[in-house]
Amino acid sequence: MKSTRNAIFRRLEALYARMGQGYAATAQGTGFTCAGCTQNCCTSHFQHHTYVEWLYFFKGFETLPAPRREAYLDRARACVRETQDALLRGERPAVMCPVNDDGLCGMYEHRLMICRLHGVPHVLAGRDGLPQAYPGCHRFPAPAGADAAPAPLDRTPLYRDLARLEMDLLGARLRALPRVNLTLAEMMVQGPPRLTP
Ligand code: SF4
Repeated sequence: MKSTRNAIFRRLEALYARMGQGYAATAQGTGFTCAGCTQNCCTSHFQHHTYVEWLYFFKGFETLPAPRREAYLDRARACVRETQDALLRGERPAVMCPVNDDGLCGMYEHRLMICRLHGVPHVLAGRDGLPQAYPGCHRFPAPAGADAAPAPLDRTPLYRDLARLEMDLLGARLRALPRVNLTLAEMMVQGPPRLTP
């Protein structure tokens, strides 16, 4: 139902805003910046796991002018081929995201969760419920002392709330639909998700 879906999108936007705030709070005062980095995180082999983000990405994608959509889709098809080739060679793919335009995200407002959280030190509860710490980007500045270390971003409530949104979107279909495990390029080539099993 459209009104339900719009309400879920509004909740996702609020969750994305919290991600941005959490990221900024961890990075604040550290001088951490992506400027001048020779590696681009947008070549990372990110895989995404929710229908709700896939759907929201397409909400934005479908507002783009047709020629831009076509150009991105051409790149997405090439990206999928290059990624598969790398995997067949036994390599970890490092293929530029199809919506990256000369270093800038062409879908910034609709980019997915991992694009919003990547880079800063974070903690995430493991299966045992205990928080596991992750260092973030190798360029993240080392703190001058233990007291100076910024609090790592806690991804746990963000992941939990995204999972709740996924459940609210899918309801009883959650168990019937295949699990999502796709790169953004694969999502784009497949088109908007079909939410009927
Ligand atoms: S969606 Fe945007 S931020 Fe995410 S990998 Fe692609 S270009 Fe980078």
